[in-house]
Amino acid sequence: KEKLLEIKDLKKHFKLDRKSILKAVDGISFDIYQGETFGLVGESGCGKSTAGRTIMRMYEATDGKVDFVGRNVHHIQSKREIKEFNKSMQMIFQDPYASLNPRMTVKDIIAEGIDIHGLIKSPKERAERVNELLELVGLNKDHGSRFPHEFSGGQRQRIGIARALAVNPEFIVADEPISALDVSIQAQIVNLLKRLQKDHGLTYLFIAHDLSMVKHISDRVGVMYLGKMVEIAKSNELYHEPLHPYTRALISAIPVPNPQLERTRERIILEGDVPSPVNPPSGCRFRTRCPLAMDVCSRVEPEWQEYKEDRWVACHLYDERYKEGSLA
Ligand code: SF4
Ligand code: MG
Repeated sequence: KEKLLEIKDLKKHFKLDRKSILKAVDGISFDIYQGETFGLVGESGCGKSTAGRTIMRMYEATDGKVDFVGRNVHHIQSKREIKEFNKSMQMIFQDPYASLNPRMTVKDIIAEGIDIHGLIKSPKERAERVNELLELVGLNKDHGSRFPHEFSGGQRQRIGIARALAVNPEFIVADEPISALDVSIQAQIVNLLKRLQKDHGLTYLFIAHDLSMVKHISDRVGVMYLGKMVEIAKSNELYHEPLHPYTRALISAIPVPNPQLERTRERIILEGDVPSPVNPPSGCRFRTRCPLAMDVCSRVEPEWQEYKEDRWVACHLYDERYKEGSLA
């Protein structure tokens, strides 16, 4: 396993006014391995999109670092390096329609990155490359001269994927790429992303608000709550043995396809709303909704600890010091 990205204590705060700061991402640390799909999940407003955008340098980081193959992306200064970097990371957006310019033809949309980076000079080669990309994502060359509104949601997402692939990136942040699509189309797009990953050695950060969406595509999954990472595990481990009470609640909410075959599973209903990231609770941020909260949880913030290999969690239940309630 080689690290492609190393994210350390990453923070992204937004100043709302003179007094309040929105701590959208408030100190998260994790690695993304070469060739894997890292799923990032959490309720809306937990900071997952902001994390994705800060990792790929669409936002400046407030604090912490993002190393991409050993280079801190937020320290890149020279034009040449920025250009190089912008090619290696691409984004696929949730709403393929809003992210495609309605006045541009599909071929010009797809070739945008090629043109910006001056990758191909000859018009003939450019046209060939666009056709190749259209084919790669399951469209055909006749589609190139048409406009985004002529396509279905799934086809538009294919166009967005072709645009991202055009510059031969290594890393793709897919921010809820299937959330806006019909269920019947979601699997097609996931399969397409998987195939492209295999054929082109891509690494994905796949963002979703729903654990069932990342289940089949992710090698590992990170769960965020209110600007913090609360747990990371290999996908199947997370689903079979969730550690953090928040993860347990999310897993228990996934509908069971055939309840008769599944052992009885208790649905954990979380009480209350997600508190504001402007004014997060003291200690553990999840404590206001946690069914297992102890005294210590309001006073001490749980440490981000490696519970076992490739298994991280931030919860006092897994901290020897507090487990038995000894210090609580
Ligand atoms: Fe619940 Fe306490 Fe663990 Fe937070 S630290 S998740 S409040 S048990
Ligand atoms: Mg979002």
